[in-house]
Amino acid sequence: MTTIQELRNSLKHAIAEAEHANPSCSKSVFLDALRDCLMGTLPSGPASDRILTLLKRSNELPVFNSRLDESDLRRREDCLSWNSLDSSIQAIGDLVWEATTVSAGDCDECMGEELVYLWDAVSERMVKVCDLCSNTLDLEGRRIESTGRLEVPTRNQLEAVSVIESD
Ligand SMILES: [Zn+2]
Repeated sequence: MTTIQELRNSLKHAIAEAEHANPSCSKSVFLDALRDCLMGTLPSGPASDRILTLLKRSNELPVFNSRLDESDLRRREDCLSWNSLDSSIQAIGDLVWEATTVSAGDCDECMGEELVYLWDAVSERMVKVCDLCSNTLDLEGRRIESTGRLEVPTRNQLEAVSVIESD
């Protein structure tokens, strides 16, 4: 059975690995180290499954362009909630989510800098979705209904709509 302390140690280890990496690949190193630590240790459940799915797909996701500020990870780790196993998994999940999604600007509904690009797997198009209030926009900024089948887009999908440049 995984303990909160083990999860926290896994995160500390991944942060330490990232700090030793070349700045241009530190986010990838962070996610790789986190995957190695968490594989087989996370208790099963929707939150854990989501984390592991993102970590396994990380080499095709826009990690380099993602929202995560890796220079801030030490401070973030201190501020995260480590009260229960669920909140620990949630805290790690939030970091993985930030490290794999690209910012799409401010939400005009809740006034936060919370829009991210997501792929709508039903309508097969890129949308901008608010992390906080689920406000959903098309790429031109028009409000639309979400189909509810949203995935983190790959680098290729984001390049195709010129959100990121090919490397
Ligand atoms: Zn919002």
